[in-house]
Amino acid sequence: MTRQEDLTVEAALKLVLDGFSVLDAERVPILEALDRVLSEAVSAQDSLPPFANSSMDGYALRASDLAPASRTQPVVLRVVADIAAGSVSRVVIESGTAARIMTGAPMPTGADAVVPIEATSEPWRDAVRMLPEEIEIYEVVKPGAYVRYPGEDVMAGSEVLPAGHVLRPQEIGVLASLGVAKVSVVRKPRVGVLATGDELIAVEEELRAGMIRNSNSYAQTAQIIRLGAEPVSLGIARDDESDVRARLLAGLDAGVDLFISSAGVSVGAYDVVKAVLEAEGNVGFWRVRMRPGKPLAYGRYKGVAYLGLPGNPVSAMVSFERFARPAILKMAGHRNLERPCIEVEMQEEVHSDGRETYMRSVVSPAPDVGYVASSTGSQGSHIMTSLVQANALVIIPEGVKTVKVGQKLKALMIDWPGNVF
Ligand code: AMP
Ligand code: MG
Repeated sequence: MTRQEDLTVEAALKLVLDGFSVLDAERVPILEALDRVLSEAVSAQDSLPPFANSSMDGYALRASDLAPASRTQPVVLRVVADIAAGSVSRVVIESGTAARIMTGAPMPTGADAVVPIEATSEPWRDAVRMLPEEIEIYEVVKPGAYVRYPGEDVMAGSEVLPAGHVLRPQEIGVLASLGVAKVSVVRKPRVGVLATGDELIAVEEELRAGMIRNSNSYAQTAQIIRLGAEPVSLGIARDDESDVRARLLAGLDAGVDLFISSAGVSVGAYDVVKAVLEAEGNVGFWRVRMRPGKPLAYGRYKGVAYLGLPGNPVSAMVSFERFARPAILKMAGHRNLERPCIEVEMQEEVHSDGRETYMRSVVSPAPDVGYVASSTGSQGSHIMTSLVQANALVIIPEGVKTVKVGQKLKALMIDWPGNVF
């Protein structure tokens, strides 16, 4: 698999994704399941709501008693109970009687409706509110008014969440209300992060002649964390085969599901990652027709998936976006592997060399047009700040060299429009 190939982004992405499958499941407390994918359907053991209860602070009564009620001619009922949320009253509401009831309190037997407190003579604006002996009702309500019936939300026994569902805060709330404390979700992908290069120093170190700080490991680790996966730091390998090998073996020991390295995969004299992978892996070195990007290594090292990103920081991040992100999401069980993609109108003329180009751009809403885009300036693969200003990667399709003002392009949103400063 070592032959150099020229691949379109689409073809490369397909080859990469074919090499990944969904990881196995684990049971975790529901808060640890946030943003993760359910591996088993969840059925309700109880109904929601579990019992008929009032949706308002008011009076529980029989709707048929209210026929003549109005402001000028109230219906007067005898108050026989005061039912707070969390209490159960054994009182039976008969014709001519009512119970004061609070939101969420169970409906008493015999009552079929609630009249909100504002439509009664209850002095609800006063600090002290003794239970009145009688209550005047000013409004007619239908049977069922302001009553929340059991099972309206969820029926006991029904499937609430199917396998494959992504758990957002609202799903966590539903699980909690159903008494589900733990759920089975796809386990988090463990991703080994390796930087390579003799020129790299740690973030804490002083700059020296010829050296640069290892920023890629930080950017990739942050990208991994954003996806809900677990980064495993494999440090900086020198341009030395035995160092690279030792760090990859450490990754295997740590049980990584995927290696991500940066640099050392092109045609330079010191590209030792390539040498190690060619000798011991089953890794192909591709030239992907994309910009930024181009060199990309993909395959397996001793059975574990391996993605070798280019060294240039912007190329590394954009290649991660395009290839590592969907692969990691797929392992984690996600089905939606793509960023939101919207159509944008270019506000400036832009150029490409004919490769599929991911232009760091600012996309913003524009009245009547939808969304407009402009590039963030210099698009060099070492210009990190071009990504700092960007909220989107606008795609100039393969084969297109000039895009005129007003032309429409697709934008991959790495942030929501407006989320740039
Ligand atoms: P290479 O792929 O080794 O030819 O590296 C391409 C460019 O990326 C060079 O300018 C490297 O110095 C730079 N580079 C490689 N690794 C990193 C890293 N971890 N952080 C920042 N820049 C890097
Ligand atoms: Mg290098």
